[in-house]
Amino acid sequence: MDKFYIGSHVDNKAPNFVLGSVKEALSYGANALMFYTGAPQNSYRRPVSELKGEEALALLKENNISLDNVIVHAPYIINLANAVKPDIFDVSLRVLIDEIRRVDYLGYHKLVLHPGSHVNMGADIGISKLIEGLNKVIEETKDSKVIILIETMAGKGSEIGITLEQVRHIIDGVYDKSRIGVCLDTCHLSDAGYDLSDTDGMVQKIDEIIGLNYVMAIHINDSKNPQGAHKDRHENIGYGMIGFDTLSKFAHHKAFENIPKILETPYINEKAPYKEEIKALRDNIFNNTLK
Ligand code: FE
Ligand code: FE
Ligand code: ZN
Repeated sequence: MDKFYIGSHVDNKAPNFVLGSVKEALSYGANALMFYTGAPQNSYRRPVSELKGEEALALLKENNISLDNVIVHAPYIINLANAVKPDIFDVSLRVLIDEIRRVDYLGYHKLVLHPGSHVNMGADIGISKLIEGLNKVIEETKDSKVIILIETMAGKGSEIGITLEQVRHIIDGVYDKSRIGVCLDTCHLSDAGYDLSDTDGMVQKIDEIIGLNYVMAIHINDSKNPQGAHKDRHENIGYGMIGFDTLSKFAHHKAFENIPKILETPYINEKAPYKEEIKALRDNIFNNTLK
C-alpha cells in the first residue's frame, strides 16, 4: 500500500467547483489535496449547495482518497487575534463559523486556519484573543466534527503562531481539544528560524513541544529566503534555501507517515508544477528541469 499522501492546493472555480478541485488533483497524480471554498483573499462565498460537493465526494471515493487527506483552507481575512478592533474580531468569528458550516456541508473535517496578527499588541495579547475566539467558534459549532488546524507561521509583520511554543500555548487554551490540531508549513518553519536539515531533531522538538498527535497536515514548500528571514515567500521544491533533500526527508519521515503533505509552491511560467513536484517527492528524486 502506498502510504505516502501527497497533493497540492488546487483551484475551486466555475463550472465544476469542488468536483473540479478533485479532478485537478487527480490530474497531478495526487492522493491528497487542499482547496478554498472561494477566493482565499475574501470571504465572499457562493452558496455551498452549488459547489458540486456530492459529485466531488463520489469521485474521491472512486479513487480511494480518504477524507482525512482532503484539507480546506480558511479565508485569509480572518483575524481572531485582533484585540484592537472589536468589529474585526466579530466579523472573523462570523466568517469562521460560516466556513466550518460549509466544510461540514461538503463532508470534510480538516480546516486550516492562519492564527492571525496581534496588530502591535504583542504576541501574548494576540494569542489570548485568538484563544477566546476559537473557544467561541467551537462552542457555537458544537455539533460539528471539523477540526481547526492552526498553521505555523513565518513571522511576517505581527503574525502569531510562529514558534512551536506559541502554537502549544494556543492549543492549551482551547477547551475542546478534539476540535484543534496543527498544520506545519516547512517554508514558514524555516522562515521562523527552525533548522529543518536536522530532520530528526526537528520532529523530536515538534513532538516534545506540541505533540505529534496534533499534527494533521503539512504544507511542503521550499523558501526563497534563508532560515529566520520571516518573509514567507514560497519557492519550488529544491529551488530554494531549504533544499530538496531536507524537504523530502521531512515529507517521508516516519512520524508523518499518515499525514497529508500539500504543496503550495509557485506556478512556473503560468503553469502548475505540481505533477512534477509530486512525482519528485514521491520518488525522492529531485527534478532539476523545472526551471
Ligand atoms: Fe496557509
Ligand atoms: Fe501554508
Ligand atoms: Zn506561506
